Amino acid sequence: MPIYEYRCEACDEVSTVFVRSARSEVRPTCEHCGSKRMKRLMSRLSRVKNDQQVMDDLGMPDPGGSIEDPRQIGRWVEKRFEDYGMDVPSETREMIDAARDGELPDPVSDL
Ligand SMILES: [Zn+2]
Repeated sequence: MPIYEYRCEACDEVSTVFVRSARSEVRPTCEHCGSKRMKRLMSRLSRVKNDQQVMDDLGMPDPGGSIEDPRQIGRWVEKRFEDYGMDVPSETREMIDAARDGELPDPVSDL
């Protein structure tokens, strides 16, 4: 579950907000004074990033693009997740395995 930290612009206290999913809209409220004027903090915690954010950061290779060796996709993605100190999510793992079998990943359905 993603965890975001927000700083209250009214009282300057930090609140931690658990988010149901990466796509949920977050309407944080200050735990300390109830203000809704919250500003998202870049967390110090490396694991605060969720899978979707990591994928966004990675920018998945375009399946129709110039990928010459699908095996490179997997190595690169695995390396990036390692950099974030995360396990490769099972969905992504399956995609990598498929890519290594010579199948390119399907385009993300909701893009
Ligand atoms: Zn506050």
